[in-house]
Amino acid sequence: MEDLLQLKNKNFVIMGVANDRSIAWGVAKALHQVGANLIFTYRKERSLGKLNKLLEKNEIQATLIAECDVNSDESIEAAFKKIGEEAGTVHGVIHSVAFAHSEDLNGEFINTSRSGYAFAQDTSAYSFIAVAKAAKPLMTEGGSLVAMSYLGAERAVEGYNVMGVAKAALESSVKYLALDLGKDNIRVNAISAGPIRTLAAKGISDFNQILHHVEEKAPLKRNVTQAEVGDMTVVLLSHLSRGVTGEIVHVDAGYNIVG
Ligand code: NAD
Repeated sequence: MEDLLQLKNKNFVIMGVANDRSIAWGVAKALHQVGANLIFTYRKERSLGKLNKLLEKNEIQATLIAECDVNSDESIEAAFKKIGEEAGTVHGVIHSVAFAHSEDLNGEFINTSRSGYAFAQDTSAYSFIAVAKAAKPLMTEGGSLVAMSYLGAERAVEGYNVMGVAKAALESSVKYLALDLGKDNIRVNAISAGPIRTLAAKGISDFNQILHHVEEKAPLKRNVTQAEVGDMTVVLLSHLSRGVTGEIVHVDAGYNIVG
């Protein structure tokens, strides 16, 4: 399998591990299983502490850990400078980062503030473009970028509000980045994950109801796991998906095809 995936000893930047429930942690575990080198970025010291504990507990050795606040171009540039200097070539980046102010998630979408809209877009969509730009010079052997999206980009999902619009921009950015970076043999895709109980999901009102609804309606009659999203991310990072770019892959137990 390792040969098939061709990820062993290749460098992958994983952005967005906040704790053991993070989708990014699912990706890290899946990448570790195939012998990839793991480079992590974190935003807050709190996340760094949790990440270090997780790595220790799971006996995973990180190649590098760098601070990166995706709201800041300087921070993104500094992180990828450090990665280039200390790890060299990058073969893939996993962008598993999003944030919106709770007041812009709760209530009616029509009440979204101008600043809240801009902040959600900046953190959850523009940051992918900025990260791609910073990573590109390090991806001299080609590679793959993967972002995390949600059905709320395509449909009006109650309670997802401003984040749905940010995810729509993210999914469109995936396509435009794929068009730009194809000539450098860099593929760009996103996973549209089904609902998973994480820290970020706590900001979504009625999240339990969403989980129940998926269980009831999805073709597989269940919700998906962090590990399932991790595995598909590995596919998108690997040789197996070499003909795929600009794609939004649903890992949602089939829920998106219903209704
Ligand atoms: P999470 O809270 O574990 O991860 C979100 C991460 O974003 C955290 O690590 C946080 O530190 C990071 N982050 C926020 N602002 C940042 C900034 N300015 N700079 C750097 N990092 C920042 O939650 P998660 O559910 O694992 O979310 C990961 C991704 O998956 C997000 O893009 C989310 O929208 C997406 N997603 C989640 C679900 C779900 O149901 N949990 C479903 C579909 C898509």
